[in-house]
Amino acid sequence: MRTPILAGNWKMNTNLASATELVNAMKNDLSQLAANGNVHVVLCPPFPYLARVNELTRGTGIQVGAQNMYYELKGAFTGEVAPAMLVDFAEYVIIGHSERRQIFHESDEVVNKKIHAALANDLKPIVCCGEALETYENGETDVWVRGQIHAAMQGLSADQVRGLVIAYEPIWAIGTGKAATGAGANAVIGISIRGALADLYGEDVAQSVRVQYGGSVTAKNIDEFIVQPDIDGALVGGASLKADEFIAICRAGLKKNS
Ligand code: PEP
Repeated sequence: MRTPILAGNWKMNTNLASATELVNAMKNDLSQLAANGNVHVVLCPPFPYLARVNELTRGTGIQVGAQNMYYELKGAFTGEVAPAMLVDFAEYVIIGHSERRQIFHESDEVVNKKIHAALANDLKPIVCCGEALETYENGETDVWVRGQIHAAMQGLSADQVRGLVIAYEPIWAIGTGKAATGAGANAVIGISIRGALADLYGEDVAQSVRVQYGGSVTAKNIDEFIVQPDIDGALVGGASLKADEFIAICRAGLKKNS
């Protein structure tokens, strides 16, 4: 059984005061949800607030994730953050978010290097993939997503892959208010993502990896995704900045295995 995982990606939002306020507003409800172990809840604040969020959530069962990292371990890389710098504050790290790929030109090769570096430093990667609108409209989603998965998995062992979380995030659904349908997202995750993993590592590994859907998830539409057999949770952007909304989304995770 795959434990559902709901993660909030705050992106480049909040300040120290509002990050603190947000965690305090969600802490009690989220810790109750996380306490029984049936749902994993992860908060991914910007780098400067990782330490604060980690401190505020310590002992609650709520987990913390970073939104990015570099793959080198140390040295002359001004402005970058190394994996070992994150482990004191974060358990997870988002890798290959479409905003990193599009705005900061992160290639499949860089994404793959980051996954290796994260795993080597005891961080659990949340690996993002997903197609642009044009690819979707041309009916090329399967080829595109399979290609991203093959590239991201280069050189990883089956055991390493079992420890990954993958987030299927169609770019046309991120921040647009136009979410995919539950059935549509389930098909891409089941056929393209688990299909690619099965080709590479066998069906057993493909079925063991947790795969989230991400893209305009809200408290209103989460049920549509969480009931799908191949969807194990959500990576949530905008709605994770509203305490009540994110609590409701995480609570929906309980419906997964009930
Ligand atoms: C995201 O940040 O990965 C995301 C899916 O954003 P949103 O939920 O706002 O679409």
